[in-house]
Amino acid sequence: MINELICITCPMGCRLSISGTPEEPVVEGNKCKRGIAYVKDELTNPTRMICSTVKISGGIHKVVPVKTAQAIPEKYKFEVMKLINGIEVHSPVVMGDVILENVFDTGVNVVVTRNM
Ligand code: SF4
Repeated sequence: MINELICITCPMGCRLSISGTPEEPVVEGNKCKRGIAYVKDELTNPTRMICSTVKISGGIHKVVPVKTAQAIPEKYKFEVMKLINGIEVHSPVVMGDVILENVFDTGVNVVVTRNM
């Protein structure tokens, strides 16, 4: 089990020492209880936002930035990147346009983050 983490919930970046079990971790070094929730999530169901770019044709730029609209389970991150890398869109696109819907049945879409 992981025994140290840096909490990324806020800019304080507390260095956390962890013992106990993933379901009942004993956490030291946290300045607030959100650090405990962060550790539980990281140990039992880690999630990540995915930010990347996809190719775009018909405009000035060659790529447009995209991201997952919410965090997805970390176990899908490489598979989602593979899907993203295979996509090409055509200009114009608008911030919020969905380029991948409900990736891996997570309920999360991948969306464009810039008008282009
Ligand atoms: S434990 Fe609390 S204060 Fe420390 S980084 Fe996490 S959220 Fe911020």
